[in-house]
Amino acid sequence: GYYRVVKENRTLYNMVQDLKGNIRVYCRIRPSFVAEAINVIDFIGEDGSLVLLDPSNPHKKGRKMFNFNRVFGPTATQDEVYKDTQPLIRSVMDGYNVCIFAYGQTGSGKTHTMSGPSGGLTRDMGINYLALNDLFRISNGRKDIISYEIQVQMVEIYNEQVRDLLAEDSSTVKYPFLDIHKLEIRSCTSDNGLSLPDATVRSVKSTNDVLNLMKLGEVNRVVSSTGMNDRSSRSHCVLTVHVHGKDESGGKFHSRLHLVDLAGSERVDKSEVTGDRLKEAQYINRSLSCLGDVITALAQKNSHIPYRNSKLTLLLQDSLGGHAKTLMLAHVSPEEDSFSETITTLKFAQRVSTVELGAAHSNKESSEVMQLKEQIESLKQALANKE
Ligand code: ADP
Ligand code: MG
Repeated sequence: GYYRVVKENRTLYNMVQDLKGNIRVYCRIRPSFVAEAINVIDFIGEDGSLVLLDPSNPHKKGRKMFNFNRVFGPTATQDEVYKDTQPLIRSVMDGYNVCIFAYGQTGSGKTHTMSGPSGGLTRDMGINYLALNDLFRISNGRKDIISYEIQVQMVEIYNEQVRDLLAEDSSTVKYPFLDIHKLEIRSCTSDNGLSLPDATVRSVKSTNDVLNLMKLGEVNRVVSSTGMNDRSSRSHCVLTVHVHGKDESGGKFHSRLHLVDLAGSERVDKSEVTGDRLKEAQYINRSLSCLGDVITALAQKNSHIPYRNSKLTLLLQDSLGGHAKTLMLAHVSPEEDSFSETITTLKFAQRVSTVELGAAHSNKESSEVMQLKEQIESLKQALANKE
């Protein structure tokens, strides 16, 4: 009886998620660092709309509207952003695969959203930490009906090469450029998907374990950047949370949550960079546009999805499409001098978004979603009272 109620409640919950679609795009605008700068974001709507202002053409024609599932302005807190991400993250505990991407130019706030402020502070923690915290809580709350094991893996993709960031081998520290931590993506028959069989996978039991692993990942990432200009903006960082669940009837599942801090999306001026920097930039461009192609193809329900065109999409193949859920967090800087990157980011985000222009339809749908949300809240309350 109890389990059935929980299960039905959860099914309804996931139905609401499905109703909202499997691909979501949020936009986050970071605060401006320049006191008197012209802000190129002219308007932010509650309904996920945003108006961009062209500073060289501040009249009506220089205004362009974009529509997303949600827009977070410069005053939005980490908790507010997390709150709108939480339903997706929670669905991982019910067996769904989820990918969350932070996209945007360098300096737009991707790492702030995913990890938190730099320097490993323990306030203002980002989605990575809040998500794991939540997963532990859910695991605890359900321990009588499902037993969970949670594992973490962290890799970076640099110039189309995958590297293990959790290898605790001192040779990585001494010789960061050795190839020993290069990983191959292979098909994994037991899970019917692709994976990195040689990547370090660590079991985690508390947020403290997670913090330690994140620190190790950061150290390994910084070490490998010796002699290179800010490696962390030039590579994709993929934190994968594996959730293994076993319910009371012996049914098992393995779901994955991928938390991805993407390489900076800025275009480089080909006349200014050469050699390694140009090569890096081309790899980044190609893999980001590949990711865009895959998500667009999924949003349009195309029959062919071009997963194989980049390491990133290949690695995430079994968590993109099908019943998997995807969230793109597009980050923009509000300053005037970022205008051209900002418009490029917003166009990219709009392209992968399934939100239609014109709010009438989406409003109706969202009011249905609101009603179902309320229903769920009251069911949750009822359930909590029973406990
Ligand atoms: P990215 O990872 O996209 O290169 P960062 O996350 O490193 O960008 O952000 C650049 C700087 O802006 C950092 O100093 C970061 O702490 C700050 N920052 C970014 N977003 C916010 C925010 N929403 N609130 C306050 N500071 C922010
Ligand atoms: Mg960053």
